Amino acid sequence: MSALNKLTITQALSGLENKDFTAVELAEAHIKAMEEGRTLNAYITETPELALEQAKASDARRAAGNAGALDGIPLAMKDLFCTQGVRTTAASKILENFIPPYESTVSQKLWDAGASMLGKVSLDQFGMGSSNINSAFGDVINPWSRKDSPDVKLTPGGSSGGSAAAVAGYQAMGATATDTGGSVRQPAAFTGTVGIKPSYGRCSRFGVIAFASSLDTPSFMARSVEDTTLMMQTAAGHDAKDSTSSMRDVPDWMAALKNIDLKGMKVGIPKEYTVDGMPEEITNIWQQGAQWLKEAGAEVIDVSLPHTHYALATYYILAPAEASSNLARYDGVRYGHRTSEYDDLIDMYEKTRAEGFGDEVKRRILIGTYVLSAGYYDAYYIKAQKVRRLIANDFENAFEQCDVILAPTAPSTAFALGENQNDPVKMYLNDVFTIPASLAGAPAMSVPAGLDAQGLPLGLQLISKRWDEESLVKAGRAIELAANFKGL
Ligand code: GLN
Repeated sequence: MSALNKLTITQALSGLENKDFTAVELAEAHIKAMEEGRTLNAYITETPELALEQAKASDARRAAGNAGALDGIPLAMKDLFCTQGVRTTAASKILENFIPPYESTVSQKLWDAGASMLGKVSLDQFGMGSSNINSAFGDVINPWSRKDSPDVKLTPGGSSGGSAAAVAGYQAMGATATDTGGSVRQPAAFTGTVGIKPSYGRCSRFGVIAFASSLDTPSFMARSVEDTTLMMQTAAGHDAKDSTSSMRDVPDWMAALKNIDLKGMKVGIPKEYTVDGMPEEITNIWQQGAQWLKEAGAEVIDVSLPHTHYALATYYILAPAEASSNLARYDGVRYGHRTSEYDDLIDMYEKTRAEGFGDEVKRRILIGTYVLSAGYYDAYYIKAQKVRRLIANDFENAFEQCDVILAPTAPSTAFALGENQNDPVKMYLNDVFTIPASLAGAPAMSVPAGLDAQGLPLGLQLISKRWDEESLVKAGRAIELAANFKGL
């Protein structure tokens, strides 16, 4: 039974259905893996008792013939999703002891479908970062870190680094994530897992701690395209508690995955998705991916996204601007950390925020307040909003010619923890291929496609038209079948 944690979600569901094992046994196998794998530091808060209690209830439901779509599946929850009665920190000291009085819609939907929660996983504080080094709870380690050089620990990527390490390290069957500028896709690429960001508006943001509200997208990570699709399918749909949540019906994506003939599908290769010094292996896997999609029946064409070059700068104006406004609520008055000694109200605000926020969060608040201040608002914020429109138009134009876009997920494989630490701009460059789709609100995913010369996972990114997750998951599945990627 020791390998129960190595199953995919869909395999585990059929095992449960066939009574090969129980949900309690499945939860126990994961709790053991989580406890034995603490060196990865993926979890901020472990909730084994809750997982077992939920698993017990799941076994009872299945015995009564009432099992839901994810019944008995143990998941990890990114610590940005509020979980009622369970500490939710955003990996920041400012929320170190915050116990939410409500549940996020996405997590609630997963529990309603029968899933259980192993715990809350780490991230770059408030979702700000690409390497998980910005967590107040310590670095998270990529389970792919090489055994032959124990001194060099690799980053799992970020901001959803805890989700990625837990899923790749078999400490959860799947995990929630969020993607504001690439935070599900880049960690998925760095850890050989599948990460999917639905269309903006597809899954409710209610109860997800805000970073940049016009970009934040609840997302999903697991070890197969089918598993991530199932999680997305379960969590999607309109929610009156989020005014940006779409009223559209949720299509049956799982049914679409039954037929992976890509005949009639057009795949666009954007010529702008390269950077200087990009390893040849990334270019090669990109070409290989195009070839695989062709063999699955798709037609591959060249497309152009001419404003790609401006995406990074645009994002790093708009996301901090929204963050500076969203994070104004952490003032030591309503909830979260409050400094112990202060002279007056202003002093209390200042000390609370100085003590509570990490450096990267402070940097973003400074950038954000700067670009929103009188005198700079037009030059930076308004200008960036206009460029965002041009970038979204690029995608609209490209999707007149093709159904999905294929590109690398990141310009590198997993780098060493600490690398780029003192150079925030270099760190921001790691998001160069993921940010454009975020600015356009388009669904996108990363699928593991192979290994580089050092034996580290390479991810391929697919992007589709807003609301067309169907083409995305079908193309993703075709790559998965062809790549035949083996996890750790
Ligand atoms: N790495 C990007 C940033 O630092 C994206 C983060 C995210 O998607 N949450 O903002």
